[in-house]
Amino acid sequence: METRRIAVIGAGAAGSMAAIFAAEAGADTLLLERTRDGGRKILISGGGRCNILPARVDESRFVTDSSPHTLRNILRSWPLAEQIRFFEGELHLPLVEEADTAKLFPVSNRARDVRDGLLALAARRGAQLVTGSRVAAICPAGARWRVERESGAPLEVDAVIVATGGLSVPSTGSDGCGLSMLAALGHTVHPTYAALTPLVAEPAVYASLSGVSLPVSISARDGRRTATSRGGFLFTHRGYSGPSVLDVSHVLVRSRLDDGASARVHVRWTELDERQWETALRPDGTRTVAGVLRRELPERLADALAEQAGVPPTRMLSQLRRDERHRLIEQLVRGSLPWTGDEGYRKAEVTGGGVSLAEIDPRTLESRRHPGLFICGEVLDAFGPIGGYNFLWAWATGRAAGLGAARP
Ligand SMILES: Cc1cc2nc3c(=O)[nH]c(=O)nc-3n(C[C@H](O)[C@H](O)[C@H](O)COP(=O)(O)OP(=O)(O)OC[C@H]3O[C@@H](n4cnc5c(N)ncnc54)[C@H](O)[C@@H]3O)c2cc1C
Repeated sequence: METRRIAVIGAGAAGSMAAIFAAEAGADTLLLERTRDGGRKILISGGGRCNILPARVDESRFVTDSSPHTLRNILRSWPLAEQIRFFEGELHLPLVEEADTAKLFPVSNRARDVRDGLLALAARRGAQLVTGSRVAAICPAGARWRVERESGAPLEVDAVIVATGGLSVPSTGSDGCGLSMLAALGHTVHPTYAALTPLVAEPAVYASLSGVSLPVSISARDGRRTATSRGGFLFTHRGYSGPSVLDVSHVLVRSRLDDGASARVHVRWTELDERQWETALRPDGTRTVAGVLRRELPERLADALAEQAGVPPTRMLSQLRRDERHRLIEQLVRGSLPWTGDEGYRKAEVTGGGVSLAEIDPRTLESRRHPGLFICGEVLDAFGPIGGYNFLWAWATGRAAGLGAARP
C-alpha cells in the first residue's frame, strides 16, 4: 500500500498533536508553519507555565453554537486520563495539580518544555516541520489536495489538516486565515468573537483599586445567554480581569455585538450570603461598617463597596439605618459591576464561534463537505473556560484529525 501524504497547516497545539498521531500511524507528514518556530501560544500560555490540562473536566462549561452533544462526543474521543498518560508517559513531562485552581502544569513550570517536547516527538515519529511557510490556499485536486504556499511550489497531498487557530493575539501567528479558507470551501463558520478577554469600564469607577485581587462569584446575562464563574477577580487600571471575569466575558462581548452592551454583570464579593451579612452587620457596640467589611475584603475594596452603596465606611453599626444595611448587603452579594467594553482579540485567550461542528465527522474530524479535509483546534466552533480546557480541546481534536487523516 502506498504511504499517505498529509499536510498539517499550523504547528500550534492542535497541529503538532495532529502531526504526532498522523506520523505515528504511518503517514508521510508535513507540518507547515508560517512563523519561524510554531507553538507560540503554548509558549505564552498560563503566564509562561502552560496550564496544559484541567485536573477535572466539567464538559458543560464548553461554549458552542453547534450541538453540545457533538462537542462532548469529540472530547470523549481522548479522555482526560489518557491525555495525562500521554504527556507523562510519551512526552516524559510530569504534571502537577495546582490545588486551589485544579489546573495541571508541567512540574518544570516551563511552557517551553511542552512546545519543544511536542515538536520533538512529532519529528521523532517522522513528521517534517517546515517553518516560515505560510499556506495561502487549499483546493481539491481530483481525489487529492493542492496546498498553495506564499513561497515555494504548491504541494499535492492525500489529505490536509487545517489547524490554523483563531483570531486572538495575532502576533502568535494565528490571524483567522484558516477560517476564511474553510468558508471559501463552503463551510459554515459561526460568527466569531473574542472570548476569555478582560473587560473595560469607562469611566473606570474602580480605577483606584487597580491591582486589588480576590476570589469572587460572578454572573453575566443578557436576554439570550448567561454564564457564571467562581475564581480570581482582578481590578485593572482600565476595568477588570482575572479568571472569573474572563470566563463570563463572552456573554458581554456578544451582547455588544448583538445590541450594544445590554448584558448585566453581578458579583458576590465574598463567601457570605445575605443572612450571614445580616448577622455580621447587626448593631454591635462601637464597631463600624468598614471594620466589619475589612474582615472579609481587601481594605480599599471594602471602603469602595460601602461608598457605592451610599454608606459612609466610618458609620457605626449601631447607627446603620435599615435601608442602608439593605443596600450594603445587596452590593456585597449581588453587586452590579459597571462595564462599557472589552479588550477584544488583542488580549482574548481564545476565539468563540468558528467552523460548525455539524459539518465534521466527530470521530475523524473529516469535513462532511470535502473528503480528505480535516479540521481541528480553535478554528472549530468551541471553546472552554480558563483552566486548561482549551488545550484539552486542541489535544483531543488534533489527535483525532491526525489519526483520521492517516487512515487509508
Ligand atoms: C495569552 C494566552 C494564554 C493562554 N493560556 C492557556 C492555558 O494556560 N491553557 C489552555 O488550555 N489554553 C490557553 N490558551 C488558549 C490556547 O493557547 C489555544 O486554545 C490553543 O493554542 C489553540 O490551539 P490551535 O492549535 O488551534 O491554535 P494555535 O495554537 O493558535 O496554532 C495555530 C498555528 O497555526 C499557524 N498558522 C496560522 N495560519 C497559518 C497559515 N496560513 N500557514 C501556516 N501556518 C499557519 C500559526 O502560526 C500557529 O502556530 C491561551 C491563549 C492565550 C492567547
